[in-house]
Amino acid sequence: MISQFKTLKEECYEANIQLNNLGLVIYTFGNVSAVDRGRGVFAIKPSGVPYEDLKPEDIVILDFENNVVEGKMRPSSDTKTHAYLYKNWEDIGGIAHTHATYSVAWAQAQRDIPIFGTTHADHLTADIPCAPPMKDELIAGNYEHNTGIQILDCFKEKQISHTEVQMVLLGNHGPFTWGENAAKAVYNSKVLEEVAKMAFLTRQINPEAPRLKDSLIKKHYERKHGKDAYYGQK
Ligand SMILES: [Zn+2]
Repeated sequence: MISQFKTLKEECYEANIQLNNLGLVIYTFGNVSAVDRGRGVFAIKPSGVPYEDLKPEDIVILDFENNVVEGKMRPSSDTKTHAYLYKNWEDIGGIAHTHATYSVAWAQAQRDIPIFGTTHADHLTADIPCAPPMKDELIAGNYEHNTGIQILDCFKEKQISHTEVQMVLLGNHGPFTWGENAAKAVYNSKVLEEVAKMAFLTRQINPEAPRLKDSLIKKHYERKHGKDAYYGQK
């Protein structure tokens, strides 16, 4: 029988494979999901399946209340975090989660990643936020759901927009990224990992390295994303 969610499962599958191809995950670390807003469902990697064994038909389809709509396998253990973010941020189309080394290092150090250079400014104008580690009662409760709450609370507290900053580090844990679709969420995971690596090396070479000045932040962001953007081909 052909699944009515074939395209969505394939989008999710391709994005998960891409996460692996980009060197962002080893073993079964990490997961990507893709949403279908029209049907109120999202597709996510099954739990504990190595990338080399993963097939498009293994992808699990759920609604935003975490009910399995289609699929025989158990969904990723982080599914409730994805559902919470989709439910609350209605304009996002894909979410990725990895344990990539440099991103995790900043998360474990519980530090925002400062904007040090134009690579960072090409993608976003703010420091990459690190949400505080979760409190014991949130860990003991509905942990993965509460992980979503922790991320949203961080954005509310720091007054940042999830459409401008499509990535976060969760203290002691690691990065979550999102975008208009699953491929963009994966792209943002790779950008985050590279920026995290560059920022780490910058601090190593010069612990006092200054934040990028506003004029360069503005220039680099706007030539790529501003109303008169001229980066790339028309
Ligand atoms: Zn994780």
